[in-house]
Amino acid sequence: MKKSRTIVQTLSNSADASRAPAGETGSGRSFVGVGVSPGRIIGPVLLMPTAVREPAVGEQLAEGTSSEEASAALRTAAKAVQTDLTARSASASGTGREVLEATALMANDPMLVKGAVKLINNGASPERAIWDAAASVAEMLHNLGGYMAERATDVLDVRGRIVAELRGVPAPGIPYSDSPFILVAEDLAPADTATLDPAKVIALVTSSGGPQSHTAIIARALGLPAVVAAVGVDALTDGTRIFVDGAAGTILVNPGAAEVALAKAWETSTAARAVFDGTGRLQDGHLVPLLSNVGGAKDAVKAAAAGAEGVGLLRTEFCFLERDTEPSITEQVEAYRGVFDAFPGKKVVVRTLDAGADKPLPFLTDASEPNPALGVRGYRTDFTSPGVLERQLSAIAQAAEGSEANVWVMAPMISTAEEAEHFASLCSAAGLATPGVMVEVPSAALTAASILEHVDFVSLGTNDLTQYAMAADRQLGPLSALNTPWQPAVLQLIRLTVNGSHDEGHNKPVGVCGEAAADPALAVVLVGLGVATLSMTARALSAVAAVLASVTLAEAQQLAKLALTAHSATDARRLVREKLPILDALGL
Ligand code: PEP
Ligand code: MG
Repeated sequence: MKKSRTIVQTLSNSADASRAPAGETGSGRSFVGVGVSPGRIIGPVLLMPTAVREPAVGEQLAEGTSSEEASAALRTAAKAVQTDLTARSASASGTGREVLEATALMANDPMLVKGAVKLINNGASPERAIWDAAASVAEMLHNLGGYMAERATDVLDVRGRIVAELRGVPAPGIPYSDSPFILVAEDLAPADTATLDPAKVIALVTSSGGPQSHTAIIARALGLPAVVAAVGVDALTDGTRIFVDGAAGTILVNPGAAEVALAKAWETSTAARAVFDGTGRLQDGHLVPLLSNVGGAKDAVKAAAAGAEGVGLLRTEFCFLERDTEPSITEQVEAYRGVFDAFPGKKVVVRTLDAGADKPLPFLTDASEPNPALGVRGYRTDFTSPGVLERQLSAIAQAAEGSEANVWVMAPMISTAEEAEHFASLCSAAGLATPGVMVEVPSAALTAASILEHVDFVSLGTNDLTQYAMAADRQLGPLSALNTPWQPAVLQLIRLTVNGSHDEGHNKPVGVCGEAAADPALAVVLVGLGVATLSMTARALSAVAAVLASVTLAEAQQLAKLALTAHSATDARRLVREKLPILDALGL
């Protein structure tokens, strides 16, 4: 049977701490990581369980266990998983509920259970039997294609849960609790975060992952305080109360009254921060359109409600994560149209599929590549899977037709002017009038002027630009000090891109859609470097708008100079922040 979890303490426990004398700080251990999403909060830890280990190939029934006993244990485990998932679906909503309901049904699927029992009767251990039976069912579903192929993932998810139940270890995936908790993990994959319920998960802390990792991006999108690269934090146990400061990057175990006061002050200041009025501008009236990064129609609706002036990055791969077959043109048109409809009369920049590295799409990328970040990813998948890009462009053009959005389109991971030229020719063949490319590979920054001979705009992807400029994997915690867009070398590449956009008589816009745009202090530097538009998670709009409105263009240019000539990333950040007192006033 499953070991019961340590009982999760609820946030209301913080009331006990508040009885401590004012100013008294917690006496527990502390951890320091990299703060990636601001916010101060106290809550109990729930650890992300480690992935379920595959049972040994050929693992046999334990000595003294009959096949009847093993089959009964398997049926009990399958039933327990089904009951657990059904109970969870009852308290979930929307897509989360649908996913849980479908998975619950699969857990006790007769074909799956009978297949496993047959293998047990041939001498396999129940763990190995369910493992292999699920693999056969998943393969069969996969071969059926379409909707059935999608269900293959559910079978594999259920398999892990049944094996965990048989072993008496926590189920894989985001843990579940009735009350709010702080999720502590080694790192999170984009697929993990799809089922993350922001009403329950109140902060994210990881021992690995860098500031540009997808954990960080998701945390900012959900507005959750988050710290990454906090070495050792995953040794905490479930239920331990911690204080997380997502700006400072600190975690304190057993917080005291001082931390309770800080958490309360954060709650009050967040509620008081002015909402974005829908026009990004500096103090002197210089306009800086503030757009939003979205992963689909739901995000787009939220972004429009938050005042975004358009979409600066639609991550189309997020519409199809977990898909192992190429989405049909009809499915794609529907997904893109949902985003366009949220922004009538406004700009929507659609990025073609950026599959690969930390965002694999099984129908496009090769999971066995030795070095995926430097592999066939983004635009490069057109080399190995010709036709997918053309079909996507055709779907974007069809979705744009009859929509009121002003649709622009851009390719990720462009390295040369020739690639930009080829992409522009595909866009023109599809009837898409405004092609652009991302500048996220240093070679593209260095050749921006040549690239802009072929396309109408560029958008700086500072997350990848940083990892490639610094040769530091954006997912690795130990490299997080290198992996920050405050690095003067990265700022130089941004400056070169802007310079290139003015060369040879071009006057084409340079935007930023990497996470740098969501850092209010760095946003000022980017504008000072000549960036025209900034695109970020909708949650960051009000903070970025407030800080931009506190400086003139001349001041932003001075701050950009200060950062560019700083000796280190730390100095650049410190020097700029010192000149922006509004950051402290707003708790940013
Ligand atoms: C980037 O690299 O900055 C970017 C916006 O793309 P992604 O984070 O999706 O790789
Ligand atoms: Mg990128």
